[in-house]
Formats: sequence, structure tokens, C-alpha cells
Amino acid sequence: MGEENDFDVQEFKALLMERRSLLQQVEQTGKDAAEVVELDQSKVGRLSRMDALQGQAMSQEAQRRRVVELQKIQAALRRIEDEEYGYCLKCGEFIGLGRLRVDPGAPYCVKCAD
Ligand SMILES: [Zn+2]
Repeated sequence: MGEENDFDVQEFKALLMERRSLLQQVEQTGKDAAEVVELDQSKVGRLSRMDALQGQAMSQEAQRRRVVELQKIQAALRRIEDEEYGYCLKCGEFIGLGRLRVDPGAPYCVKCAD
């Protein structure tokens, strides 16, 4: 209970916004890299083309994960606006400062996340 008194939404809002701008930067760089692979495909041999395609698939997977994380962050920022942030979406309990600091976008408490 005492932990909740130290809970400062602004701290997590700053964390979330920092993380969001970082992800958006990486997103931009990742897109540039994917375009380079496409341009190079006509020039490279079969084996290195397979490498390139594999690299592309991996960067697409990384991109997909970034999109998921961005959505999670956006949702958390929306909960801050709605003054619901920090409380488990399932049981309504306080999620906990430690858990939120590790994962500011966490929508559930430890118990409900399992
Ligand atoms: Zn819960």
C-alpha cells in the first residue's frame, strides 16, 4: 500500500515518451535499412541474396515487435490521460513501482500477467 503513495505518474509518462521516441527513431532507421536490401538484390548472387532475404525477414520480425511495443506504449499513455495508469486492467490492483519501472507499458499486475 505504501508504495502507491510514492507513485508519480509523471515519472512513467516521461519514461514512456522517451521509449516511444527511441522506438520511432529505430523504426525510421530500420525502414531505411530494409530499402537498401531491396535495392541491392539485383546486384548480388543467389547465396548472398538469400542472406539478404533472411536479414530482411529478421528485420521485419524486429519491426513487428517494435510496432507491438509502440501500441503498448500508446495504450499506456492513453491510460495516463484517463487517470487509470498503474492499475491492473484485470483486477484493478496497483501494478507496483518495480514492475512499472522495468516495463512502463505493463497493463497487468504480476499475478494477472501469468
Ligand atoms: Zn491484476
